[in-house]
Amino acid sequence: MKGLIFDIKEFAVHDGEGIRTTVFFKGCPLRCVWCHNPEGLSPKRELYLKQNGCLSCGLCKKPCDHPECQEIGRCLHICPKNLVSTAGMEWEAEALAEKLLKHKDFFNSMGGGITLSGGEPLLQADFCAELLTLLKGQVHTAIETSGFANADTFQKVVGLCDFVFMDVKLADAEQHKKYTGVDNKIILQNAAWLKQSGIKHTFRTPLIPDITDTEENLNAIKTIVGDSPWEKLAYNPLAGAKYKNVFREYLLEDIRKRLKQNDG
Ligand code: SF4
Ligand code: SF4
Repeated sequence: MKGLIFDIKEFAVHDGEGIRTTVFFKGCPLRCVWCHNPEGLSPKRELYLKQNGCLSCGLCKKPCDHPECQEIGRCLHICPKNLVSTAGMEWEAEALAEKLLKHKDFFNSMGGGITLSGGEPLLQADFCAELLTLLKGQVHTAIETSGFANADTFQKVVGLCDFVFMDVKLADAEQHKKYTGVDNKIILQNAAWLKQSGIKHTFRTPLIPDITDTEENLNAIKTIVGDSPWEKLAYNPLAGAKYKNVFREYLLEDIRKRLKQNDG
């Protein structure tokens, strides 16, 4: 079957053990205000227009005959500064597995592997499962997930992985809804299952100033993760850089200013 991927990053060193290839799945049901991959949010292929350096010449807006340009409404081939592209490319699971397995000897000799990331890989659960089945036993696999999926989907896909990185961002249900757009009940249920599953895993919490890095939140998450490994990830101050390229607004800095004003 086909899946939609927005990036394949080789020689990744922050997505699990060793040197890895990370596959970024398009689409995420969450809307974390700190998300640093805005081109991964929509589950559809979309226009990615680098705004810096645009001459406002309008050439890309003129009608063209290229079939691949019709869906996104801009010509992908005419920009003199090469600023127009798309986020999202369809892959057949077999073709993607074949590409990823080209480096399997290297991964296996260096202790690396393949990491599925996003976006949220579980949003394309059937495609994930097919890909992981094709990779199984040949190369180490890991997944980076928000854990926001029904229990059957979660257990089926993570059960095919050698390692699971799962986020626990905010312990309080209201705060979770406020800053990620979804309730955390299903995430906490999946976290509880993962802890006792026997699958190797690490929980992760992004340290977002004034939102997730509060003492109250971190103490509550500590109780949730229990004895499982737990990593705290540093906030990326450049997270907002790509938002305008996919015509989205980065709201985190305004939210943080408002929080500070309320504190003062
Ligand atoms: S063709 Fe390129 S430079 Fe001209 S308006 Fe489009 S993006 Fe900007
Ligand atoms: S779960 Fe990850 S990809 Fe989805 S919105 Fe949050 S930070 Fe972005």
